[in-house]
Formats: sequence, structure tokens, C-alpha cells
Amino acid sequence: MRAFAHRKVLVLNKNFTAIGVVSLPRAIVMLFSTDCAGEPKAEVIDHEIVGRYDDGRPQYNITPYTWEEWSEMRPKDGEDAIHACRGTFRIPEIIKLSQYDKLPTQKIHFSRRTIYKRDHSTCQYCKKKFGTEELSIDHIHPRSCGGQTTWENCVLSCVYCNKCKADRVPKVSQERIGGKMKTVYLVSFKDGKKTWTVHLVQPNKPSYNFFRGDIHYESWKQWLDAAYWNVELANDNKD
Ligand SMILES: [Zn+2]
Repeated sequence: MRAFAHRKVLVLNKNFTAIGVVSLPRAIVMLFSTDCAGEPKAEVIDHEIVGRYDDGRPQYNITPYTWEEWSEMRPKDGEDAIHACRGTFRIPEIIKLSQYDKLPTQKIHFSRRTIYKRDHSTCQYCKKKFGTEELSIDHIHPRSCGGQTTWENCVLSCVYCNKCKADRVPKVSQERIGGKMKTVYLVSFKDGKKTWTVHLVQPNKPSYNFFRGDIHYESWKQWLDAAYWNVELANDNKD
């Protein structure tokens, strides 16, 4: 079991939407857990390749199994397995929740690491790239004035920009950018007598871009939308 502690399992919501990634031990706990009616909280989604589409993508046969059913299946030849005292188990790669998401997805993904990743370690005000220790997370609408700690209100800021921005409240407006109406902030800065204004488009809550480089198994790909994969290819050289 120890060797598998770093293995990841993709978590799907009840409607088969990918909502996160958990460690294998956590996934097994979720499979063992039952709700108040005694029903399992999650089940394993098996993904047997049954053919290929014209463009080469694998075509899967998707079968859900409870842990009880899954634990009775024997690993196929050459397949990694969990060797436990009670027997040998196949390793789940995908699980699906039986109820709608109870995982705090925003909390799971909203971390320093993911903010750094979203903003490409770049100060969003001066657009310069910095080392980790020179950047901090800035609340666009200051926390002292009720600004929330959300994807939409937090950006990376360098020490200098952070100091010059201080607790100034930005002006908010709506602008059409790339065919879409977006919230735009005009943030004012002050350093001594010098003042200037930075135009900042409200950052997004990222979608599955956070799986970038973290796709552990081919079986996960079908659950992540086509748009994500196109972005992935287009941006490959930028990372
Ligand atoms: Zn800066």
C-alpha cells in the first residue's frame, strides 16, 4: 500500500463531471464510506478499452462498481495491484460520487500553489515574472474593505506593486474583451509623488487547466473537456 500512497485518483461528480483529484488512500476511504442510508458514497468507474474512434482516441466501456464488487475482481496480467493482507486488489483510477459534490472543490484547488500556477509566477500589475519569495497574493478589492478570498479577487503581486497599491479600492467597470463582457479594475498606485493606474481584467476561476501536466492516466482524458485539450496543446511551449 505504501508504494501507492502517491497514486492519484480522478473524482467525478454524480453527473460524471470531473471535479478533482485525490490520493489513492483517500479514494479508498471514500469508496468504503457509506451515507446515512447505508449506500456507498462513491463507486469505481472501470474503463476497459473496447475500440478506437477514427481519430485514434480510445473508446471505453464504462462500468461502475461498488468497492465490494471491485474488490472481488482479480487484477489482469501485468496490471498494478494493491497487495493487502485480505488479498490483491485492482487499483481504481477513477471514482464517481453517488451524491452531488460534497467536496469543497474551491478550497481544494484554491491554494498558493494553484494561484502561482494560474498567474504564471507573474505579478499581475507590472506583468514581470518573479521568484516565489518575491510574490504574494493580493486581494484586488482589499480585504480590509470586504474583499473576498476568491479566484476572482486574488492575484499575484510583487512586493513593490503590493506596497504601492496598499489598500486602495479599485474602480470597477464592464468592458467587452474578445467578444465577452468582462469585469475590469482600474487600480491606482502611489510611490512618493508618482501615481499611476493599472488596468486589470478580473481573473478567472480556472477550469481543468490545473490538471495540466498532471494527467496521470489515459483513462482520465475522456472526462476532461475537448476545450481543455486544445488549450493544452496550444500552450505546450509556454510552460
Ligand atoms: Zn509588480
